[in-house]
Amino acid sequence: MSELYLYNTMSRQKMFFEPLDPAEVKLYTCGPTVYNYAHIGNLRTYVFEDILRRVLEWNGYKVKHVMNITDVGHLTSDADEGEDKMLKGAKREKITVWDIAEKYAQAFLEDMDRLNLLMPHIKPKATDHIDTMIDQIKQLEANGLTYTAGGNVYYDTSKFPDYGKMAQLEKQELQAGARIEVDPNKKNPHDFVLWFTKSKFLTNPESVEGEDQEMQWDSPWGRGYPGWHIECSAMSMKYLGKQMDIHCGGIDHIPVHHTNEIAQAEGTTNVKPWVLYWMHGNFLVLEKDEKMAKSADNFLKLDVLIEKGYNPLDYRYFTLQAHYRKELTFSWEGLDAAKTGLRRLREKVCNLNNGSTIGSTTDPQSEYLEQFESAINDDLNMPEALATAWELLDDPKISNADKLATIKKFDTVLGLKLDEPITFELPPQITQWIVERNEARDNKDWGKADEIRDKIQESGKWLVKDGPSGTEVMPK
Ligand code: AMP
Ligand code: ZN
Repeated sequence: MSELYLYNTMSRQKMFFEPLDPAEVKLYTCGPTVYNYAHIGNLRTYVFEDILRRVLEWNGYKVKHVMNITDVGHLTSDADEGEDKMLKGAKREKITVWDIAEKYAQAFLEDMDRLNLLMPHIKPKATDHIDTMIDQIKQLEANGLTYTAGGNVYYDTSKFPDYGKMAQLEKQELQAGARIEVDPNKKNPHDFVLWFTKSKFLTNPESVEGEDQEMQWDSPWGRGYPGWHIECSAMSMKYLGKQMDIHCGGIDHIPVHHTNEIAQAEGTTNVKPWVLYWMHGNFLVLEKDEKMAKSADNFLKLDVLIEKGYNPLDYRYFTLQAHYRKELTFSWEGLDAAKTGLRRLREKVCNLNNGSTIGSTTDPQSEYLEQFESAINDDLNMPEALATAWELLDDPKISNADKLATIKKFDTVLGLKLDEPITFELPPQITQWIVERNEARDNKDWGKADEIRDKIQESGKWLVKDGPSGTEVMPK
């Protein structure tokens, strides 16, 4: 059977996977900032991480998976500037930041469930770990890696020799600093805040200032709140120890967030490398250079797809058609194709239960199992793995029973619920129209019934039929 190779962003090459401790692989995935719904770009990254975990488990590893929930606001820019994301959400919805965090953490867990993502074993919330973060900042201070300016505690990146190694930031770039406006308190452009106090740190006068923060805690440096990079190094080390096997996120995290996380973790413990394999998922982008931003007012979330008649697993299938390191462009035509593809795959699997036993050799699946494994073990080549699933189902030499057994095994990685009947969720508006249409029909108001049928059909990808119990709606 094939060996597992994963692409490591640190070395920029595929590397044979060898965990620190074969008894338990330590995996950390950067989680959501819960100030709004996740957009489908974010969800692409979580699907990639889910596949990674499933592939590790396929290879017989027991995985300890930790994912943080960022519920203490970080700023809209990575550079310690801009508005506080949580506060922005609270103002938008006129509820407290705590309620915002609760609401969107729940929504995120629901999205995970709908996409059939395996739950992390530990989901630490930033607000529950302020003390752990303060302890780490104290240690960094004791190690001479911090300074205080304008009331805030900063990480002095010039004192950490490997700073920017993973992002391959050149020295000049580090010195010339940023295209961004630099906080005048910073000694070096890439220095970042470990602890904010109530001081006016923001260079942008439009932004929400420190005094407005609802979430604040006492600390040795004054009442305030942590910078957003510290939570991941503090919480991951609390649950996974001084070193871990794999740390993941989207590619946007390479130059700032993960670069800063490394400086914090290794600057605290001096144990190097903190992470053996860094893995990053490429972006989902929209057509015509549109930006997919959670902070934009309009963005594509899973609910929008569901309202249009797609099953969340159609989207999962859509993302699996591209390699996780390649940029993927979202289009409705692409999603339609994925939906059709998944439905056909499901139908094929369903038909296997109606059992012909023609075909079959002594160990029929092993060839396909090997092919599938060599695809997933080649840095999670899911397009290849999906192709293998199709090939298996179309192979006349294999009996239905063997196909079914094999495809079920594949599905432990694909996570497409291939042997379950196709289900779909009706959006609340459609449910409401169904009730109204049934009433109109009871009242023999055929004009109104037709009008509502048209409304349902035009609202998205729904088909209306009249069944024995009244209006029946299904995806087109
Ligand atoms: P956030 O909630 O903004 O911290 O982002 C959650 C995850 O989604 C992070 O791992 C990001 O790197 C990732 N991400 C953000 N935008 C995209 C995108 N357009 N496509 C794929 N992943 C993304
Ligand atoms: Zn993180």
